[in-house]
Amino acid sequence: MTRDYDVIVIGSGAGGGTLVHRLASSGKRILLLERGDWLPREPANWGAHEVFVDNRYVSEDTWYDAHGRPFQPQIHYFVGGATKLYGAALYRLRSEDFGELHHHDGSSPAWPISYDEMEPYYTEAERLYHVHGARGEDPTEPPASAPYPFPAVSHEPRIQQLSDDLEAAGHHPFHAPCGVMLNERDMPNSACVRCGTCDGFPCLVHAKSDAEVLAVRPAMRHENVTLLTGAEVVRLETNAAGTAVTGVVVDRDGERGSYAGDLVVVSCGAANSAKLLLASASDRHPDGLANGSGQVGRNYMFHNSQAVLALSKDENPTVFQKTLGLIDFYLRGRDVDYPLGNIQMVGKSSAPMYRGEKPLETRLAPTRSLDQVARHAIDFWLSTEDLPRPDNRVTLTPDGSIALSYAPSNEVPKQKLYEHLRSILGHLGLDHHHLIPRHAYLKNEIPVAGCAHQAGTCRFGTDPATSVLDVDCRAHEVDNLYVVDTSFFPSIGAVNPALTAMANALRVGDHLLQRLGAQPTHQEPARVG
Ligand SMILES: Cc1cc2nc3c(=O)[nH]c(=O)nc-3n(C[C@H](O)[C@H](O)[C@H](O)COP(=O)(O)OP(=O)(O)OC[C@H]3O[C@@H](n4cnc5c(N)ncnc54)[C@H](O)[C@@H]3O)c2cc1C
Ligand code: SF4
Repeated sequence: MTRDYDVIVIGSGAGGGTLVHRLASSGKRILLLERGDWLPREPANWGAHEVFVDNRYVSEDTWYDAHGRPFQPQIHYFVGGATKLYGAALYRLRSEDFGELHHHDGSSPAWPISYDEMEPYYTEAERLYHVHGARGEDPTEPPASAPYPFPAVSHEPRIQQLSDDLEAAGHHPFHAPCGVMLNERDMPNSACVRCGTCDGFPCLVHAKSDAEVLAVRPAMRHENVTLLTGAEVVRLETNAAGTAVTGVVVDRDGERGSYAGDLVVVSCGAANSAKLLLASASDRHPDGLANGSGQVGRNYMFHNSQAVLALSKDENPTVFQKTLGLIDFYLRGRDVDYPLGNIQMVGKSSAPMYRGEKPLETRLAPTRSLDQVARHAIDFWLSTEDLPRPDNRVTLTPDGSIALSYAPSNEVPKQKLYEHLRSILGHLGLDHHHLIPRHAYLKNEIPVAGCAHQAGTCRFGTDPATSVLDVDCRAHEVDNLYVVDTSFFPSIGAVNPALTAMANALRVGDHLLQRLGAQPTHQEPARVG
């Protein structure tokens, strides 16, 4: 079956969903192809056992590591992509991240655009995704042209206490930017009920600022937008010269079909976008579509992350914990002159999560003792930037599956960041109301399967020899082919990536509208709740 569209967008997550929202009101014929379905709304959305032990919403994909060992990636195929499960911590990259940064293990390269060029789009993305926050608290915050559209989410008492203690000790904790549709001034009418099953869970009441709820659904109200779910794009065909995509080949309901669009935008997530381009090799593109540089699939990054919990002497009854950030060591540590990374709270842990994360270690532990751990736990997420390395890459196995080779970088700063936090918490523990001096930590390394923050497989740049995309995220070698998921990142920084993917999709959206001869459509300012 062949139909004609002005734009075909492949993947409906942070990048693709946001782009379609941007294009929707132009009247152009837009086809959004999503391999997943709508995520079912069901009580299991908020079931820790279902989500973390049964992996109810994780894809059944098998990927392979550098040694050919199979693993199940923590990846989610739904309308809205990974944002259906994400923590909605919606950070801007720091302005320094757009320049070259010197790290312990080498350099993280400059972006081909400056922070100032991205700034207006960050502001729009914060509006579109209802970001709550407070400007002026975060010491590394880049300049912003507008306040956050919504006030910061308040800390619950235990986290307020932690914030006060950190501040008294000379640190600069801040209210973390958070994408939830919460109205604390009018809770009876607030969409978000501020529950304890947000980070890593789907939102049963559709109050999380995900790409399905805030981008795809509103875009679908425009008659010119068509969404096909269960539509897995398996190949892109080009004209004989290899200069334009002419066919988007889709498997749906057991049938293979093809669609044609003037412009084709790939937004399958960093690993799957590389897979699609590599699988689209042809005579004109023998190493994969748009891969004359050999860069497709390379420079895979996913943050050098650690989930850490500190056991407090007192119980931690916090329900919605992800309200505090500590970014004092983002550009340098206390005793070293290189970046360490970002510390933030994550969703409150519970016993089934420990079982899900460390099944072998916890299998024999009685739930009661894990419950006790959970009651006293204060949970942190530490992110250190991993550097783009050509050998950290996606390739295809002979049967076309994803093979992911990854060796970590910046292990020393990662360890130092952990030690900084440990030492800070130890000092706070001097008072019996605070964290106990002998902290017990369950430190959990994030293995290669934890690909939540994947980025970088089709980086953008000005030089076609070293980048896949130009500054508009158009493939250097294929005139009508764009990529707008996190693949385009030349470096990943150490803050969460989604807001940058959303802002960039708005930026690329304006370029596409111009190319199509349509007017850019800007978001209405959000109501302040
Ligand atoms: C548990 C979890 C927590 C997270 N927390 C945060 C957070 O707090 N803050 C933050 O900034 N980021 C967070 N992230 C990361 C964030 O969700 C991602 O960075 C972001 O969603 C990436 O956007 P994307 O467009 O690149 O990919 P995705 O959002 O994953 O979208 C890709 C889409 O493409 C579809 N697709 C894939 N292959 C094909 C194909 N061949 N054909 C058709 N469709 C296809 C997928 O089904 C998916 O819908 C989290 C992620 C997870 C999993
Ligand atoms: S905290 Fe709010 S946004 Fe998050 S899952 Fe609960 S109701 Fe949804």
